[in-house]
Amino acid sequence: MDQQTTASARIIDGKAFAAALRERIGGHVAALKAQGVTPGLAVVLVGEDPASEVYVRNKGVATAAAGMQGFEHKLPADASETELLDLVARLNADPAVHGILVQLPLPGHLDADKVIDAIAPEKDVDGFHVQNVGRLATGMDAMVSCTPLGCLMLLRDQLGELSGKEAVVIGRSNIVGKPMAQLLLRENCTVTIAHSRTKDLAAVCRRADIVIAAVGRPKMVQGDWIKPGATVIDVGINRIPAPERGEGKVRLVGDVDFDQAVQVAGAITPVPGGVGPMTIACLLANTVIAASRQNGIAPPADLAY
Ligand code: NAD
Repeated sequence: MDQQTTASARIIDGKAFAAALRERIGGHVAALKAQGVTPGLAVVLVGEDPASEVYVRNKGVATAAAGMQGFEHKLPADASETELLDLVARLNADPAVHGILVQLPLPGHLDADKVIDAIAPEKDVDGFHVQNVGRLATGMDAMVSCTPLGCLMLLRDQLGELSGKEAVVIGRSNIVGKPMAQLLLRENCTVTIAHSRTKDLAAVCRRADIVIAAVGRPKMVQGDWIKPGATVIDVGINRIPAPERGEGKVRLVGDVDFDQAVQVAGAITPVPGGVGPMTIACLLANTVIAASRQNGIAPPADLAY
């Protein structure tokens, strides 16, 4: 395969896109407030996982910055399933709460599927409830999982019309791969879902106009897997040792070998600064959509998907 030898890909600036989206969301929140509705997002954290604590704190900061109300609920690591389900039931019934997010992963003794199933579908801003998954799959209005939604926004911004494009999604998780594939199908892409049992992944990738990597394996996707000019969205967040930064230091890399792929792709998201910032912005967008729908107000057209 011929490859260009100089860096040519457009770097997709997810940070800037997310900042602009959050700015617009702030405007929508102000408009809802003028109608007597303050969007409210409840985040539930069980236990003291340090990474989860950072995510929850960031979500709280972003919620406040957008002018929304944030409700943070912390339960101890040994909280019982009944305690957690009772809390979810209270949040379901609270009219000030329009979105509910239970931070995953949960401690091992708690059944995440059961907890997600207990969230009122219209407040399920993570889009994990089986009703939302089914609604997305059947083309109905749904709450859509935030990370794939962020990827779709970046793709639409880069490519405009997606219809007819060959898209390969690597990874079939419920939170990224599967909903991503559904969204691309809805855009009339020809979608292939690749996974750990896929044979000759390199050849599968090479036919793609759009590659979405959501695997969790550092730099797995090689430059010569990419069709020249393709758009590459790297969802992976992997920590690898970075001795150049000092002893014990790490740095973040994606699932795509960026240095190689940037020489072949037409456009590519960096890690960090690509998909990551879109996830929280889409959580805020989903909360605005949920607050609008729960109050009989049409969701803002620019947040529709
Ligand atoms: P997961 O572990 O649930 O799923 C990984 C998927 O990759 C599986 O479906 C598996 O079949 C597939 N896979 C594993 N090895 C493979 C191989 N060798 N070849 C092809 N496919 C293979 O992970 P996830 O929750 O979907 O997350 C994937 C990555 O995205 C992780 O790095 C995660 O940290 C990151 N992530 C980022 C964000 C964000 O906001 N940017 C959000 C969620 C997840």
